[in-house]
Amino acid sequence: MHDKTIAQLSAGLAAGEFSSEELTRSLLERIEQFNPGLNAFITVTDDVALSQARAADERRRQGQAGPLTGVPIAQKDIFCTDGVRTSCGSRMLDRFIAPYNATVVEKLNAAGMVMLGKTNMDEFAMGSSNENSFYGPVRNPWDLDAVPGGSSGGSAAAVAARLTPAATGTDTGGSIRQPAALCGLTGIKPTYGRVSRWGMIAYASSLDQGGPLARSAEDCALLLGAMAGFDPRDSTSVDRPVPDYVAALDRPLTGLKIGLPKEYFGEGLDGAVARAVAAAIAEYRKLGATVLDISLPNTHLAIPAYYVIAPAECSSNLARFDGVRYGHRCDQPKDLLDLYTRSRAEGFGPEVTRRILVGTFALSAGYYDAYYLKAQQIRRLISNDFQQAFAQVDLIAGPTSPTVAFNLGEKVDDPITMYLSDIYTIAVNLAGLPGLSLPVGFVGQRPVGLQLIGHHFAEECLLNAAHRYQQITDWHTRTPPAFA
Ligand code: GLN
Repeated sequence: MHDKTIAQLSAGLAAGEFSSEELTRSLLERIEQFNPGLNAFITVTDDVALSQARAADERRRQGQAGPLTGVPIAQKDIFCTDGVRTSCGSRMLDRFIAPYNATVVEKLNAAGMVMLGKTNMDEFAMGSSNENSFYGPVRNPWDLDAVPGGSSGGSAAAVAARLTPAATGTDTGGSIRQPAALCGLTGIKPTYGRVSRWGMIAYASSLDQGGPLARSAEDCALLLGAMAGFDPRDSTSVDRPVPDYVAALDRPLTGLKIGLPKEYFGEGLDGAVARAVAAAIAEYRKLGATVLDISLPNTHLAIPAYYVIAPAECSSNLARFDGVRYGHRCDQPKDLLDLYTRSRAEGFGPEVTRRILVGTFALSAGYYDAYYLKAQQIRRLISNDFQQAFAQVDLIAGPTSPTVAFNLGEKVDDPITMYLSDIYTIAVNLAGLPGLSLPVGFVGQRPVGLQLIGHHFAEECLLNAAHRYQQITDWHTRTPPAFA
């Protein structure tokens, strides 16, 4: 059962081949067996899972099951879950039991999904390797010496190891697409505003967006349909109907115009990754797409702009974790200042501390114009580059990450090198666009991801293009040998 996609599980449940309770029990057993070696889950919610599974089976008996009813999922530990620890990968929230569900959790519950647990992540979603978690690093199921990517590394490892058919992620600068790429999965970061951020712990609010990580584009379409939609509790949520993403999957790609930005194929891109991406583009030609060379001239400015904007927003968002309103409180403070400083110093790890310092500096009087305002101007230029590109093409394609998964410990002491691994994903968040990563090959044992970028609200087009490719290739069906 563990090797089935959501679409297959849904069919099996509908045909009565197994119950949700049986399915849930078998996955909980796999988690017990494999999680100690992977560290993909921070919290396993056996009791919640089994009671939701029984409720789903009951709902099915009453003839009220939908396509996701009884299907298990894991939630990134950034989403608030009522009555369940929501740590955000941080010591700061190690003992935080959320008193309510995030909208995304609420919607997936309403669809009848079964929550297996909360997945490991970089602390407050800051990272590209999952090595910044208070709960320790996660291992990549394809190669245990490799990182799974970050910050949704636990979600990606759990799906790749077949401990869950799907998981939620969040993406501020690549954290759905990059771990999906490094673990051989399909993941989509929707258009900013498509999925509610309510109850999703904020990192950089103008960039954060939740989305699914799964085995196929079809599964992502099913999940996104259930996660997306207007939420009056999120002021940046967009009031626009949610299309039937599944219905759009089979459209022919004839006449689709795909742009290849020359900036995504230059220096820094690993040769073997480039070859896998070129082979995938050749498949798109066979599917009837036309491929054009384009340019996104301000690409080189995306990382510097992001590393001003994201820390600036995080310094503001994380101010609430002061040991009084929220979060870890130090023992026996001498006075109020000692309470604040020690609680924050003890609660936050080194990467989060670094970003709060950078952000506070960038926003401080006298530096605001030089850094934050400048970064916002660059953000506009980057957005304009995409606007111009989408006047010519329907989709933009390129590598998701310049390399396959790197080794644990390889970049951990060098933040700048680590930041550069998001070179192809970050601009998409700055422009608020949707982006998808799908598996298109391997370098040795380690998967390669292709990124597809669409215009605002073009999720249907991205999922359609990924699905058609997955119908003529089988990369997305490969299972890490140790977890078959
Ligand atoms: N790696 C990027 C960062 O550390 C992006 C993380 C994310 O998308 N949450 O900020």
